[in-house]
Amino acid sequence: MALPQEIIRKKRDGAALERGEVEEFVRGASGAWDPEQLAAMLMAIFFRGMDAQETAWLTEAMMRSGTVLELREVAGRKVDKHSTGGVGDKISVPLAPLVAACGVPVPMISGRGLGHTGGTLDKLESIPGFRTNLDARAFADCVARHGLCLIGQTDDLAPADRRLYALRDVTATVECIPLIVSSILSKKLAEGIDALVLDVKFGSGAFMAEIERSRELARALVRAAHAMGKGVAALLTDMSAPLGHAIGNANEIQESIDVLRGGGPADVRELTLVLGAEMLRLGGVESKLATATARLERALASGEALQKFAELIEAQGGDPRVIDDPLLLPRAPHEQSFLAEREGYLHVRDCRQLGIAALELGAGRRRASDRVDAGVGLEMQVRAGTWVHAGDELVRIAHRGVGVEAADRALRRALVIEDEAPAAHPLILERIEVDDGDAVRSTPHASGGSSRARA
Ligand code: URA
Repeated sequence: MALPQEIIRKKRDGAALERGEVEEFVRGASGAWDPEQLAAMLMAIFFRGMDAQETAWLTEAMMRSGTVLELREVAGRKVDKHSTGGVGDKISVPLAPLVAACGVPVPMISGRGLGHTGGTLDKLESIPGFRTNLDARAFADCVARHGLCLIGQTDDLAPADRRLYALRDVTATVECIPLIVSSILSKKLAEGIDALVLDVKFGSGAFMAEIERSRELARALVRAAHAMGKGVAALLTDMSAPLGHAIGNANEIQESIDVLRGGGPADVRELTLVLGAEMLRLGGVESKLATATARLERALASGEALQKFAELIEAQGGDPRVIDDPLLLPRAPHEQSFLAEREGYLHVRDCRQLGIAALELGAGRRRASDRVDAGVGLEMQVRAGTWVHAGDELVRIAHRGVGVEAADRALRRALVIEDEAPAAHPLILERIEVDDGDAVRSTPHASGGSSRARA
């Protein structure tokens, strides 16, 4: 086997690695290489990149660094969704029960909030009793019995990613597409899924703000998932304004319940339906997106999707009465209004700062070890692009007396009022998939749905 320094040298000089060399590097992440060697290799990949084949090998080796679930006991094609994250992005919460109610099993391993973006696990844990720390056996049983389960990453799932991600974090090598692709997919594909729908975000609230970089990431994710034999489609979606009105944890669960009841903010409903239609198609229960959407709409209207959410809450130890009684969800005791100082059109200048404002109140984490307060957060009272008057309430802040001034400062950075209306942009910009000739193809999204203002 080649020495670590020989593999590093080869990548440093810009050559493509062999499969065995990529696998050796991933074995190195489990202890065979020194941290200096791993860090040097990450920097070499950062500058020299990896081609599609190397990226697929890296993804596969990282996935196989731990347990790969098989979920043999679950009938049907299993489909999950991954979002690159954003502000107010609660889509997994209404999406998973909606898709499961339509007959496609959804095994979903989700993340926690970090920095300005929230995490599905934190939101779900605001439901009294809800447990996200099920082991692999209980996870598989729950998917087999109820058609879905949402848990956190277990220690034995893609452990090489945990080691490499921690090193990337401290060596300025996070923003590298082959490393991001292998990190995301190694965890998702270890869940034992047949297909994956990706929601890749761009705009000031996204992990990657620039649209070209987000598109490049979406295409690389689609290429690698396809190379690993999985069904895959990606949507490129706008994160320059928050999704929905609620930014926090318990308030986002309430908004998700509203969507499952057939209401909720238009953008949350639209994105849930569009991602859900892709999942039904990849799950093989519908062949056309239009009929898939109609089926999802029926499941919302009939109450089946909401009933599936109640079933999930109960299966994971939570109190399903939250569905009908919002007072059972935590809510901070104090409220404060953030007001317009002049008249004009509301612009979201920096969506990321809305996530920071919620974090300052305690809804998010600065460090992975921080505790989240489920009851604090923001409620947007006005959407970007609306004409407002001086004194109008723009945002309602739910708080416990902590971080309110810092949140106020972040809101001032996030929101501005101008004489001109912001330009309107579609919520869903492009759809990316692999065509019959194995080429990655992007097409403008044809939903004809809502458009959102962004400054
Ligand atoms: N999310 C991940 O899981 N990994 C990355 O590298 C970036 C975002």
